[in-house]
Amino acid sequence: MNCRLPNSSDPLLFTPGPLTTSRTVKEAMLRDAGSWHFEFNERVKWIRERLLSIADLSRSDGWEAVLLQGSGTFGVESVFSTSVPPDGKVCVLANGAYGERMGAILGHLRVAHTMLPAPENQVHNLDLLDRALSSDPAITHVAAVHCETTTGILNPIEAIGRVTKRHCLQFVADAMSSFGAIPIDCESGGIDFLISSPNKCLEGVPGFCFVIARRESLLGNEGQERSLSLNLAGQLRGFEKNGQFRYTPPTHTVLAFEQALKEFEAEGGISARGARYQRNHSALLEGMKRLGFKPYLPPSVQSYIITAFHCPADPRFEFSEFYRRLSDEGFIIYPGKLGCANTFRIGNIGHIFEADIRALVEAVGEAIETMGVRMGAEAAAEMKS
Ligand SMILES: *Cc1c(COP(=O)(O)O)cnc(C)c1O
Repeated sequence: MNCRLPNSSDPLLFTPGPLTTSRTVKEAMLRDAGSWHFEFNERVKWIRERLLSIADLSRSDGWEAVLLQGSGTFGVESVFSTSVPPDGKVCVLANGAYGERMGAILGHLRVAHTMLPAPENQVHNLDLLDRALSSDPAITHVAAVHCETTTGILNPIEAIGRVTKRHCLQFVADAMSSFGAIPIDCESGGIDFLISSPNKCLEGVPGFCFVIARRESLLGNEGQERSLSLNLAGQLRGFEKNGQFRYTPPTHTVLAFEQALKEFEAEGGISARGARYQRNHSALLEGMKRLGFKPYLPPSVQSYIITAFHCPADPRFEFSEFYRRLSDEGFIIYPGKLGCANTFRIGNIGHIFEADIRALVEAVGEAIETMGVRMGAEAAAEMKS
């Protein structure tokens, strides 16, 4: 399972997401499925059940997994559209682009909200949150990102949820880039809505998103949803009525996800997948440090999902050339996100393995050598002379 065909012409994606998927996941899409057909609806049902079991939750305890067309952002927007009542207000914790995006969504929806920003290299401060919630009784919801993919920082999602629950509010967790590789306890973490995507740690292809929600919270605002197509309660009612997506389902993507979930289970679930990503991350960190690259985050808050590195100070380093040299060798990396210092990012997730990481690091070494970039001590010595 962990070898790629030698003639595969696809580049390796270190860019979650989209990310690298297995050949068998891609092959699962070589079929046309009728969306009204009972067989397809059985698959959808199976996927919804598997998602709950991955989260260690069950319908009998009041949890639902709802699939929705669109990328991960559509899922975040659907949760706010569905659950925030007309007089509701959301407190958004933001230490990166995805937290900021939640604020943008709420702005578009004309939902009252307040931003609680933290520096991009620091996790959220629970005392600040506690005080913000105490001082503003209008707040009905708290929202936060688990792994903020902007930097790879890992926010203490369950602790944030517990503070939220002390104030008897609803908690929305964007676990897009962590679900499936980092365990999350929705029950004890006070999570009402967990949003994720097939195209991150579960290694499916893009095309839909899913939300794991407490049924009570999901249906608590029924009739007052702010959107027709991004209405999660409506989507759940659709699945309950006839087992179908309300509008045209992304059939091929669903078939690919079914296969991806089977491969996830065959690998050994969250712990095995998390362990593979940890090995990828260690190999990456060790190799890049050896070349003289410095990670942006302190190790204490760094996740094993994605790593941001400072661009070398040497003016001979130009990201676009660096990027092109790596892509010529079949490696696609991520530029930094605006706002996050001068960095570039390398993802550890997807159908990639330690050997792939080592090959990438080797290509990085060759690229900086060809570009004549001086690193760390070498660069400092050159500047002095
Ligand atoms: C990928 C991601 C999203 C969703 O992005 P889409 O491009 O809409 O799929 C949201 N939040 C986080 C933390 C992510 O990593």
